[in-house]
Amino acid sequence: MMMRENTKNGDSLSILGFGCMRFPMKGSAIDEDRTIRMIRDSIEKGINYFDTAYFYHGGKSESLLGKALAGGYRQKVKIATKLPPFMVSKLDGAMKIFETQLTRLQTDYIDYYLLHMLTDKASFDRMVSIGVVQWLEELKDEGKIKNIGFSFHGSKTDFEDIVAAYPWDFCQIQYNYLDENNQATKSGLLLANSLGIPVIVMEPLRGGKLVTNLPKEVTSAFQKFSKDRTPAEWALRWIWNHPEVTVVLSGMSDEAQVEENIRIAKDAAPNSFTKEELELFDKVKAIMHEKTKIPCTACNYCMPCPFGVNIPGCFSAYNSKYLLEDKRYRWKYMQTLGVLSKQPAYASVCTECGKCERNCPQKIEIRKELKTVKREMEGIFIKPLVAVARKIARVK
Ligand code: SF4
Ligand code: SF4
Repeated sequence: MMMRENTKNGDSLSILGFGCMRFPMKGSAIDEDRTIRMIRDSIEKGINYFDTAYFYHGGKSESLLGKALAGGYRQKVKIATKLPPFMVSKLDGAMKIFETQLTRLQTDYIDYYLLHMLTDKASFDRMVSIGVVQWLEELKDEGKIKNIGFSFHGSKTDFEDIVAAYPWDFCQIQYNYLDENNQATKSGLLLANSLGIPVIVMEPLRGGKLVTNLPKEVTSAFQKFSKDRTPAEWALRWIWNHPEVTVVLSGMSDEAQVEENIRIAKDAAPNSFTKEELELFDKVKAIMHEKTKIPCTACNYCMPCPFGVNIPGCFSAYNSKYLLEDKRYRWKYMQTLGVLSKQPAYASVCTECGKCERNCPQKIEIRKELKTVKREMEGIFIKPLVAVARKIARVK
């Protein structure tokens, strides 16, 4: 496992961090035994940075990470977890959340504590005005928090404002070869680095889309260049090629992913790409941008929809139509969002209430885009067809 130094505090961090939001499932619950084995195995193999949050897996991510780190593993790793500002209206509320997190994680300190999903400076200012930021500083003085940071989903200018507003110990941004000019952007990464703020990267595979939803032109460009590297490997290596990145988080869901990522992280040095490899990425990025219609990362922050719309599912099906040029896209859309889902969850179920939009870190105009999805993916017969198919499939 390659390590990179947190230049602000000297911590030696594994370049691969374990994102704890996509643990393996057994039916509708986390497969606990398997997850604990995966976490401990990854520690033995060199991962020492674990990223969770108050509401990942409905709160169960922190508890399970706490269980997995019992018995001596806690001392070998750094825990990052997050305070959700959108759930905090008073300082008391933040204090209760923090105490719950310590209990869940079975620890008396958090190494890296983040304000979760800041989207603009106003969201940070609100935390200052209700006393949360001063309280975090007190916790830091007491040793209950070692580093204060934020995770970010917003525009480049919002990122610049937030970075300038506080002497952050670290920050966490979405970054991958498709998002070089999206959200914080590459210039945000360089800015944070120039200010001496270590950068943790999330969404390196865009919620798996840079693996499973690649256009065939991209897959063939990768394969032509080298048959030995998977799309996931190319995507991770591209990020690690940046010396400004400290840790890349991967939300790993099975043992094979852990194995593959650890193998790649053994030799992914900064500035190691050749001129030819960089040119390959210019080509790949151009193909992807041309084909992606809605920049949804499937983060699920907009969910649940009170009327049952599977928002990321609708966007994923729609994007797949263009990215993968799949001729069966209408059938798949109807099958997954109409017939096999618990209740019809396709775009035309949307009542345009607007609840989802304020939570979208990508600032997607969800209502407008769902109308487009409806227009392009649904015909006038979708409702009767789905009703008949659900009857045949005995879906209640
Ligand atoms: S706007 Fe539509 S998709 Fe969004 S929460 Fe309301 S009904 Fe659901
Ligand atoms: S629409 Fe926005 S909030 Fe919802 S899953 Fe996609 S990116 Fe996330």
